[in-house]
This record gives sequence, C-alpha cells and structure tokens, in this order.
Amino acid sequence: MNGKRKDLGDQDSGSPFGEPVVVPIEDSIDLHAFSPRDISSVVEEYLEQCRQAGLYQVRLIHGRGKGIQRRIIRSILEKSPLVESFHDAPAESGGWGATVVDLKTCPTNSDSRPALAMKPAPFAYFAPREIDEALELLKQHGDEAKILAGGQSLMPLLSLRLARPGVIVDINRLANLAFIRQGADRGLTIGALTRQRALERSAEVAAQSPLLSAAMPLIAHFQIRNRGTIGGSLAHADPAAELPAVALALGTELVLRSASGERVVQAKDFFLGYMTTTIEPNELLTEIRFPRLQPRAGWAIEEVARRRGDFAMVGVVTLVDLNGNNTCQDARIVLFGVGEKPERMERAEQLLRGKGVTESRLVEVAKAVSHDLDPVSDVHASAEYRKEVGGVLTRRALENAFKRAQKAVS
Ligand SMILES: Cc1cc2nc3c(=O)[nH]c(=O)nc-3n(C[C@H](O)[C@H](O)[C@H](O)COP(=O)(O)OP(=O)(O)OC[C@H]3O[C@@H](n4cnc5c(N)ncnc54)[C@H](O)[C@@H]3O)c2cc1C
Repeated sequence: MNGKRKDLGDQDSGSPFGEPVVVPIEDSIDLHAFSPRDISSVVEEYLEQCRQAGLYQVRLIHGRGKGIQRRIIRSILEKSPLVESFHDAPAESGGWGATVVDLKTCPTNSDSRPALAMKPAPFAYFAPREIDEALELLKQHGDEAKILAGGQSLMPLLSLRLARPGVIVDINRLANLAFIRQGADRGLTIGALTRQRALERSAEVAAQSPLLSAAMPLIAHFQIRNRGTIGGSLAHADPAAELPAVALALGTELVLRSASGERVVQAKDFFLGYMTTTIEPNELLTEIRFPRLQPRAGWAIEEVARRRGDFAMVGVVTLVDLNGNNTCQDARIVLFGVGEKPERMERAEQLLRGKGVTESRLVEVAKAVSHDLDPVSDVHASAEYRKEVGGVLTRRALENAFKRAQKAVS
C-alpha cells in the first residue's frame, strides 16, 4: 500500500458501554501531500491494491473541509467500479478531512470481475449490515453457510481447507452486536461481536464480572484478542478455550436468533461435544447474559499452557459462595482442556457444599477431581498428566476463590 497503515494493531475500536463498536477501518492513505494533478492516479491505484488485498473499508485522508482535494476524490469515488459507498468521516487530528470508503472487495459482488485466487476453497461472501439480513442469509443457505466473526479460528480452518463452506456470512458490519450493557438483574449482557480485547479493557466487566475479566488475558495474544469475539469463542467451543469454561461456571445464558425467532439456552445445555454446540445452522448467537455474582462469591481461574498465549493443556475455573458463618453455600468447579467440552466436577462440588473450608477438605476435593477426570492423551499431554495437574490446579483455584470470598465477607 502507498498509505500509512493507521488502524491495525492494538485497538478495540469503540466504547465498551453500550455504544456500537464500529467495524475497524482496515487501511488508510494520507493524500494531502499529493498535488491535485496526481491524486486521481494515486487513489485509483490505491483502491485497486486494497481490492486485491481483500480489504473492505479504507479511509482517504485529504485536505481540509470542502477543498479541491475532497472534490476530486469524490468524483473519482462516484465513478469507480470498485466502490460500494463512501461517506465523510470526522476530521482527523490537525483538522484534516477524511472519507471512508466501502469497497466491493469480494469477487462475488461483481459479475464483471474474475474470482481472485485464494487459499480457501471458493465461497460466496456476504457482509450484511442488518441482523435480519444476516438471519435471512442463514435461513437461505443453511448448512452451507458459515458465520465469520473475528476469523481467528475460522480463517485458519478455511486457509487449510479443513472447512469448505459454500457461503460466508461476515457479521463484522453488525455494529449493534458489539456492546456491554448492565442487565436488569445487575448482571452483564454482552453482544456476541464484542471483541475479547474490549472485554479485557472494560472497567464495567472488571467490576461486574471479575472472573470473565481475569480470563481474558489468558486467551492467546492481544493481537488475536483484538479481532477475536466472545461469541466466536463460545460458538467455536474449543474444549481448551477459557470462555466456554467461564460461561459454564457462571451459569450464563446464550441468546440464539433465527429468522423465525429467538431462544435462550443455558450454558450447561449449550456445549454438546467436541467443538459442537446447540447452535442450529440457521441461528446466530447474538448476546450472552452473565448473572450478577452473589455478594459473598469468590472465583479463580488457573491453567497450565506450554507457552504464554497457547491453549491450556489443563485449566480450571472455580466459583464459590460463602454464607455468614464462612461455610460454603455453593461451589462450581469446571475443568477445561481435558476432554471434549468443559466439564463440571459435580461430585467434588458436593464435597464442599454446606461445609467449612479446611486444608484437608481442599485436599479431599482435589483428589476427587483427579479421580473423576477421564481426560484424553494427545500430543500436548498424557491423560495421567492431566489427571494429576487437574487436581493440583483445582486445589490452587479453590484456595484463591475462598480467599476472595472471605475478603468479601469481612
Ligand atoms: C494462535 C492462536 C492462539 C489461540 N489461543 C487461544 C487460547 O489460548 N484460548 C482461547 O480461548 N482461544 C484461543 N484462540 C482462538 C481465539 O480466541 C478466537 O478468537 C476464538 O476461538 C474465535 O473467535 P472469533 O471471533 O475469531 O471467531 P471466528 O473464527 O470468526 O469463528 C469461529 C466459529 O464460530 C462461529 N461463529 C462466530 N461468531 C458466531 C455467532 N455470533 N453466532 C454463531 N456462530 C458464530 C463461526 O462460524 C466459526 O465456526 C487462539 C487462536 C489463535 C489463532
């Protein structure tokens, strides 16, 4: 590209407090140094490069106000076959003007253009602007369609041709699916397209759902979290992923919409097996509802990964509620990275309910977890290792969770 890249990198693009998060602009070019005579060829060449790179939204930075550069640019954009639409953007710092351009990036958007050679198998690409439009596409294409959110799991599968959907429905333009809101019960409702990085940085999430907040930095690297969405992670349902385990421990509700209506699924009923959820091909995960924590709740998340940013070989999420006399009223223990989906350790949880918290009790619970786990062996770790470490991490996570709960009590 000729222009300076401006918007890639560490961004979460938008207010986390209920404001729509805008689709990130993928590239910018600074034109104000070019003479009016050269602008036409520079812009045309730039748009062609962006089209070839598959970008769908770019920004042209130009001279102030209604100046000559802006007039020339508008007349180029009006005539260009590569441009779907354009609009003025807020002034750049220093008072420069800017125009945001939506490109017809996809070969299927234009019959006249030959298909671009791509690593993935060919697919038809749609980027709806309204949720209803997305739902209509899912209804129309059913099994053939795949939803594209952050692309951090789907793109590798497409590039390796492990997934070969005939149709991609890119939901990144559905800005009203990216939000963090306080729910009626003072829990949090989070839009499925909210970026993982936005959750990590949100003061509201840290205050209202600290376990969710603490889990975010454990997911991959920040570059991945900049694009990866909460909905994508839950829908992908990797058994070693943090968010499905957190959702299960917290008892979240997941809202699924289709052209014919909406249904709400409890996290315990959402994850069915290895990378399999209850989402039907015509459904879109639209929001996730996190209940408010009890006043005397304590939580912890612990994991072991080979390197920072890797998926966990074994992980555990714990959530405990204490009553007034420091006995455990309720406990949730969820292991991840050990089987086909996140697993609640119900026998071990039962050993804690109604009991005081002692060193020997935690040892007993950790032993129960190790005993009940029936993990897989794979290239990352053996089943024996996972059983052993699962118990050790459970004990550690329970200690931390009870410490937090005791602080909340006093
Ligand atoms: C190197 C690397 C390391 C990683 N490490 C971790 C890690 O340690 N922990 C972890 O949890 N994750 C990890 N990830 C995965 C990452 O968190 C992804 O962001 C996440 O799994 C998928 O989110 P996404 O928004 O990118 O979804 P996409 O990749 O766009 O989609 C994933 C799947 O979900 C479906 N989908 C997406 N959104 C919706 C929706 N709203 N409704 C219905 N279906 C939908 C898609 O159709 C697709 O099948 C890693 C990824 C990489 C590349």
